Amino acid sequence: MKAEIITVGTEILLGDIVNTNSQFLAKELASIGVEVYYQETVGDNETRLLNLLEEAFKRSDIVITTGGLGPTNDDITKEIAAKYFNQELVFYSDLWENIKSYFEKLGLKPTENNKKQAYFPKDCIILDNPNGTAPGVILKKENKMIILLPGPPKEMIPMFNNSVKSYLQSLTDYKLVSKTLRFIGIGESELEEKLIDIINSQSNPTISPYAKENEVTLRITAKSKDDEKANDLIKSIEEKIKDRVGKYIYGYDDTTLEETVAKLLVKNNMTIAVSESCTGGMVSSKLIDYPGISQSFIEGCVTYSNEAKMNRLGVKKETLDKYGAVSSETAIEMAVGIAKNLNTNIGLSTTGVAGPGGGTDEKPVGLVYIGIYINGDVKVKKCNFSGSRDKIRSRATNEALNLLRLELLK
Ligand code: ATP
Ligand code: MG
Repeated sequence: MKAEIITVGTEILLGDIVNTNSQFLAKELASIGVEVYYQETVGDNETRLLNLLEEAFKRSDIVITTGGLGPTNDDITKEIAAKYFNQELVFYSDLWENIKSYFEKLGLKPTENNKKQAYFPKDCIILDNPNGTAPGVILKKENKMIILLPGPPKEMIPMFNNSVKSYLQSLTDYKLVSKTLRFIGIGESELEEKLIDIINSQSNPTISPYAKENEVTLRITAKSKDDEKANDLIKSIEEKIKDRVGKYIYGYDDTTLEETVAKLLVKNNMTIAVSESCTGGMVSSKLIDYPGISQSFIEGCVTYSNEAKMNRLGVKKETLDKYGAVSSETAIEMAVGIAKNLNTNIGLSTTGVAGPGGGTDEKPVGLVYIGIYINGDVKVKKCNFSGSRDKIRSRATNEALNLLRLELLK
């Protein structure tokens, strides 16, 4: 089943809004095995939309549109789709009652314009819109199908999830089940190299690696008539992958690194304090993203200047004079200092040259030290990151979280 996504709206063409609808739909359709080869955006213009539908149906079985279902004159998607399918729009009095009561609940009255939203082709599937006034619609003719969804994501997403997804799934007799493995500490090409024979010899499930910001993911997708069979197929391949590269896996599906680390901290009953220089609070902030962290996270300090490192953390003046603020010695004293001050099991520190200026031959931009004190043991990791100031800081944050994860797994 091939589908094409058309987002309608001049606002998107002009760059006034970000086209998140396409992204959402593309991801959802891929997850249920509907292939999407084309996505387009077209303005609120009759001729261009009509032409685009002609084009799209030459290569796709299903067209999904978002936008242009509203009450105003520039909302034309439904009218054009009906024209393309040669279908007349008729007034649905029950839909008009729904629209009126939607307005009543908000203490408002519909305008004459809103009546437009109660006109639909005689033969169609109307999709309820509990979050707005414009219902969606599915129109079919011969082997072509068009699904019209509203533009506002808060209306479109629930409509897709509640009505469209299961409808599309019911059109095929197999299911697609996916599991994503999330890797850290290994690059995409190295991962692929280590797994190339497994990847190449598989057609069901398929295995696809993706390089993301600071991590690599591997999506395993199995096709089967029932979920259980698909899950078994995934499981057997997952075992093979884990045998080779399991140590780099930090989580599955939508799990984040910070969530994994925060859960480990809580599970192990460990307390932590963080002293950050170049990451400026990003490590603390990531950990605090996890709602259950309060029993583990005691304090985070942004000790940016040498004075702060000395006053707050007890880093020695001699250390700073002799080795500099960006050094393994300072990173260690920062980690130990914050843990001792706050009496925590763990002290985690970052210090580095985030750039763009300030680098030297000896200490180039991107040089970062991450220190960790954990129940009496200390360790430091020297890293050389590349990229902009933002990238270096976010990579350092990730590396600090991963170092913490690895220590907690010991
Ligand atoms: P309305 O009844 O609000 O007019 P509509 O179905 O006619 O809804 P549009 O008029 O095309 O939709 O868009 C309404 C709003 O929905 C836009 O201003 C924008 O905020 C949001 N929107 C539309 N298309 C997209 C898109 N592709 N991605 C993200 N948001 C969108
Ligand atoms: Mg509109």
